[in-house]
Formats: sequence, C-alpha cells, structure tokens
Amino acid sequence: MGVPVVLLVSFVACLLGCHREQVRDAESVLSIEAPMGKQVEVPYKRNAYGKKIVALTFDDGPFPATTNRLLDLLREKEVQATFFELGTMASRYPEVTKRVYDEKHELASHTMSHKQLNKLRANEVATEVSQARDVLRGITGEDPKLVRPPYGAINVVVAENVGAPMILWTVDTEDWKSKDASAVLERTKATVFDGAVILMHDIYESSVDGAGMIIDELRKDNYEFVTVSELSELRGVELKDGEVYGSFRP
Ligand SMILES: [Zn+2]
Repeated sequence: MGVPVVLLVSFVACLLGCHREQVRDAESVLSIEAPMGKQVEVPYKRNAYGKKIVALTFDDGPFPATTNRLLDLLREKEVQATFFELGTMASRYPEVTKRVYDEKHELASHTMSHKQLNKLRANEVATEVSQARDVLRGITGEDPKLVRPPYGAINVVVAENVGAPMILWTVDTEDWKSKDASAVLERTKATVFDGAVILMHDIYESSVDGAGMIIDELRKDNYEFVTVSELSELRGVELKDGEVYGSFRP
C-alpha cells in the first residue's frame, strides 16, 4: 500500500513544483567575480566558471529549414547562441524568430535589409535600425539590444546614428565562402581564443553542420558557449551605444 501513496504524493508534488523547477533551471543565475572585483550575475544554465568562453553568432536569418535545424542542434547540445537577424527575413518567417526568442537565444539586429550602412545618410542609417527593431519587437515584445552592421561596415555617421552597441567578430569562419563544415571547423580551431566572437550564417546547411562540430571540438578544449551579452557581462564589459566590440578577452 505504501508504493501507491508515494507515487500519488510524487505526482501531486510534481503538479505543484515540476514545471516551476524546470523553468528555474533554465533561468538559473551564474554569479561570478568579474575583473575589478565587480560581482556580476549572468543568467545561464551551464556553469561556465573556469572555462574559456566564446559566443557563437549567426547572421542573415532566419531561414526556416536551416535555422530550425540549428535550433534543434543547439537545444540538444544545450548551447545558447546569438542570432543577428534581418528585419526582412524575420517579417517573412516570424515563427522562426519567435522560436529563437522562446528558446532563450539572444535575438539581435542585423538591420532591416542588409545595406552597407557607411554608404547611407544619417537618417537612412537610423531607419535601417529602427525598422528592424520594430519588426523584432512586433514578434517578441522586446527590443533587440545589439546591432551587427552588415559587412562590419562602420563610420562616424553609423556610430552616431545606430543607437546600439555594434558587435563585430574575431573568428571569421568564412562559412558563406567555403560552404564546407570541415573548413568552418578548421578556420575556427586555427583562430579561436578565450573571449572570441565567432561569425557564422544560419542560412547554409554546411554552417549548421559546422556549428555542431565546433561545439563538440571546442568543448574538448575546455571551451563553453554563451551569448554575446553574457560574454560581455562575464568579462565585466559594459556595452555602450555607438561603440564597436569584436571580442571580450579575460
Ligand atoms: Zn550579413
């Protein structure tokens, strides 16, 4: 008679607490001591303490076939990445953008339509950024905090009108050029370092395969993966509007 009672108690306890427990696990906070002795709290379910940390970033999506497969892979490997999405693509595939957001990746802006911002006038720069922000907020209810200017093309006019921290990269996988997962992995292994921002594109099948290989290989070398905002927080860097960031070294 004891067993059913135990089962019943477990069941009721689960009704009350299991869902909450799962949510809390996904949002658990990693508290670490940043440089200068400043204590920072970073929401991250995997303990990155004592590890080298890098940010996987994906541009130019969302594109349903490849982005959804990437999201499946990231979920399986328990990795949070940063997606710099185009407003045009997000408005075409809002359900994929919503999934990126719901699965707690960092959703960021790659502008509305991938124009080279340093060739635009001030008001045109502001429009490219604000239109993308409106699209992303319309899907998730939240403004993206970070912008990656297309081609990394920046000048003074861009800096003064972008209204957000500008995130570039330090590991260029050239995935768009090789379209070869092994080449993507090799370029990453050859140039990665603690605090690097890794550039990829979630619109190629080979990039999704390459991302899986990068995660497995770098983990063997004591790396862990965080979002760009988490990387900056873990390194005690306060991101400022109009400033450019490409890595966050210890
Ligand atoms: Zn791009």
